[in-house]
Amino acid sequence: MTIRLRLTVLYPALLAAFFLGFSLLVYFVVRSTLISPVDVALEAAAVQKLSSAELFPTGNISQLISPSEGAILSPTNFFMVAANAEGVVESRSPNLLPSDAMLDSAAVGTVEPRYRTVTLRNTSLRVYTYPLYVQPDGERVLRGYFQIAQSIETIQEDLDFLLLILFGASIAVFFSFFLLGGWTTQEFLKPIQEITAVAVQISRADDLGRRLPDSGQRDEIGRLALALNQTFERLEKLFRAQQRLLADVSHELRTPLTTLRGNVDLMRHMGEYDREALDIMQDELKRMTRLVGDLLLLARADGGSLPVMRHQVELDTILFDVYRQIQPMQAEYGVTVQLRELTPTRVMGDPDRLKQLLLILLDNAIQYTPQGGEVRLSLLHEGREALMHISDTGPGIPAEHLPHIFERFYRVEKARTRAHGGSGLGLSIAKWIAEIHGGRIKVASLVGQGSTFTIHLPRVE
Ligand code: ADP
Repeated sequence: MTIRLRLTVLYPALLAAFFLGFSLLVYFVVRSTLISPVDVALEAAAVQKLSSAELFPTGNISQLISPSEGAILSPTNFFMVAANAEGVVESRSPNLLPSDAMLDSAAVGTVEPRYRTVTLRNTSLRVYTYPLYVQPDGERVLRGYFQIAQSIETIQEDLDFLLLILFGASIAVFFSFFLLGGWTTQEFLKPIQEITAVAVQISRADDLGRRLPDSGQRDEIGRLALALNQTFERLEKLFRAQQRLLADVSHELRTPLTTLRGNVDLMRHMGEYDREALDIMQDELKRMTRLVGDLLLLARADGGSLPVMRHQVELDTILFDVYRQIQPMQAEYGVTVQLRELTPTRVMGDPDRLKQLLLILLDNAIQYTPQGGEVRLSLLHEGREALMHISDTGPGIPAEHLPHIFERFYRVEKARTRAHGGSGLGLSIAKWIAEIHGGRIKVASLVGQGSTFTIHLPRVE
């Protein structure tokens, strides 16, 4: 059932049903309040009549009501019958017809006094039935019934009128809530319908750039629109990132694949084994292997399925190991690497990942620094943090690129970077490693002077 149907029909119907139930309760309470004085009067009249009758012990009920007695009991108000135990009328008041049966014929068989409302010739009568007992042989025997009644026509008319009003009010409640509910529902649902329409357009047109109109109101629906807009924004970003990633990956793979094909074609054409071509092919294969490895690592990091160890490690030892490991690069690139300061430091983490982080930054520093340049390393403490600085005297990074260099596949100078074999993924991996260790990487750079990458990691005291 739609919200609209619920608000417009179901709730008004429930409300009307509740109101109807309440009306019936009111009706019966009023009815018993109005009728109880009649019952009291009937009982009093019956007591008066029966106490003056010479009924016992003879049990002669045919003489119980005589025409002359009608006056005492004001027969315009009271109707009386006396019937035997089978319900055959033996005497009746003069205001009844000789053909009239018992006033309340359903009372035959009753052993206790009782009241009932009956209709006699279109008139509502309140009837009091009193069973008459005799004791001819000392044993109590039901001889018959004495019934006395009074018209409650005016009361009944009032009650009918009350019922009509209450019933009419229930219907009025239903219809007014039906109309009101219909109108308010329409008003309430309008913004939701707008949201739905835009959401459908977004999915149909594949246009994640669209946004829901902001009504400026911060009620439930306004907040829903805001939350949906934030979701769309996030989806759009993810979608664009995914598209960019696909484009970047295919672009990255296309160049080495073209080189490989070119060299294979060359060798095939020459019909002989060419050492130089094979070296180039090997380099390209290495580049592709690295790229695929990096991508896989980032994908697993994103999925949270990459195991990262967390135990106490000596950061100074790790830094020293990496320093030793890159020694051969000094001669290869003509760059001097200096270890300036090495403060003993312990951090919680994964030694292999930390080594990988340092290697990425050092590798970049050495490879981007021109021959004769210098790379400086240091490990210091600052408050509760360990700081590792990796500075170089390389070309530096222009300020407008600095905010982006940690993005996947971002390169400052495409040609320069490709020449050194990088895929543009190194710094994103470095950033991820620093972050899973509760740290961060900062970079300061001046074009023409060099760059300094600083890794901040929380220390273990
Ligand atoms: P790559 O694998 O291409 O080196 P990175 O993610 O490691 O990719 O680096 C991103 C970009 O940041 C590089 O393309 C390069 O332009 C720039 N960069 C990184 N480190 C340095 C550095 N020490 N000096 C100058 N530029 C750097």
